[in-house]
Amino acid sequence: MNSFNNGTIKTVKFGGSSLADAECLKKVATIIKADASRRYVVPSAPGKRFKEDEKVTDMLYALHRAAAEGGAAFEETYEKIYTRFDGIVKGLGIDFPLAEELEIIKKNLLAGYGSDYAASRGEYLNGKILAAYIGFAFVDPATAVAFKENGAFDAGKTDELLGKALAEHEYAVVPGFYGALPDGAIKTFSRGGSDVTGSLVAKAVNADIYENWTDVSGFLMADPRIVDSPKQIRTITYRELRELSYMGATVLHEDAIFPVRKIGIPINIRNTNIPEEPGTMIVAKAEVDAENLITGIAGRRGFSAIIIEKDMMNQEIGFGRRVLDVFEKFGISFEHLPSGIDTLSVVVESKSLEKVENIIEELYKATEADHIYVENEIALIAVVGRGMIQARGTAARVFAAISHAGVNVKMIDQGSSELNIIVGVKEEDFEKTIKAIYEIFDNE
Ligand code: ADP
Ligand code: ASP
Ligand code: MG
Repeated sequence: MNSFNNGTIKTVKFGGSSLADAECLKKVATIIKADASRRYVVPSAPGKRFKEDEKVTDMLYALHRAAAEGGAAFEETYEKIYTRFDGIVKGLGIDFPLAEELEIIKKNLLAGYGSDYAASRGEYLNGKILAAYIGFAFVDPATAVAFKENGAFDAGKTDELLGKALAEHEYAVVPGFYGALPDGAIKTFSRGGSDVTGSLVAKAVNADIYENWTDVSGFLMADPRIVDSPKQIRTITYRELRELSYMGATVLHEDAIFPVRKIGIPINIRNTNIPEEPGTMIVAKAEVDAENLITGIAGRRGFSAIIIEKDMMNQEIGFGRRVLDVFEKFGISFEHLPSGIDTLSVVVESKSLEKVENIIEELYKATEADHIYVENEIALIAVVGRGMIQARGTAARVFAAISHAGVNVKMIDQGSSELNIIVGVKEEDFEKTIKAIYEIFDNE
């Protein structure tokens, strides 16, 4: 029996791009073995080996669809998945019952198992293969990561089950991304959810650190697919990261912060391809670096604003409540609520507006507004920095940069924490705006 208190414990999560083929798995094994305190390992499913490649998770979703439709696509996709894993097993030179494992998955899918089950098999198989290769125990999260009957994650039960399961092993591999419902059916987190599992494992074993290994050298000030070689951030707070990951900095799943934040386990984002680099530390509190007023810029497309105009609405008690009641009735959560004296805008994800005509009708009824209209194709961009609160004029610089780039701002919202400024722009101006804001803060 192992107690979690003997020495340093590191939980290490490896993303799909770090586990895409046998060579990647070998690199990962070297990283794990280089430090005996790297005791609990959370792998993703094999990701892309090159830009046009397919992630195993996407192939598994396709396999599930093909099973439902019948026809030749099922065998074709099954073969592709078989070949991916066979390449890994052969490349590692291990004895692994791949044919038997995949046969069970095939049988279950043809018997009608759900898409979560299908998707989870990428992590499951990769976890079993990695455990066999490095000689660690395999702990199936189907027995330790719990979801409630309504599909919500069950934090209390998971803590207890995962803690107990891992206490039995000094070294273990726990696949990411999935757990199980009370009836045993597999349930996954949302895409990118292995980051969440890593955080849960770190909490359950009371790790000293949660290392999250990926394909970039830590958190970058902006998305490297938009800005050329953005500056690397050495330290960022949980709150800053939560804002940025929610707004589209996909390097870490936005929900991965909660489990470790409560007990103050730092997250260290590292690069599997350059393991000697220190990466980014995500911590509860950090000094303000006068040279880096802005910690990061991130954004997402796909928002709409419903704009409600009514003269003197500011004097009407209960106006806001009546508006929000309508959104509640349609089961829509809102992102921002910028308001003026005679206007109120409700910014929501466009995909939640399927019934937009009914919503507008209900809003007219509830508010007797003069005019209600919708603006689509809005992108939201968050400029985040713990230093903003102390530095006067940060907002002015953001807006100067945007106007200099010739972009029209649709919406502005400054969080009450003064940790962020959110601007809404037309989707077509999305990348241009991010580049312009980056440039103005890059030359400090
Ligand atoms: P993994 O497979 O390891 O889970 P992800 O693809 O989920 O990796 O996340 C890493 C990717 O996130 C990077 O390759 C990068 O393209 C993207 N990314 C977006 N925004 C940022 C950012 N601000 N800093 C670093 N990476 C970012
Ligand atoms: N494999 C899953 C996905 O592609 C989970 C993850 O990689 O974190 O979303
Ligand atoms: Mg990821």
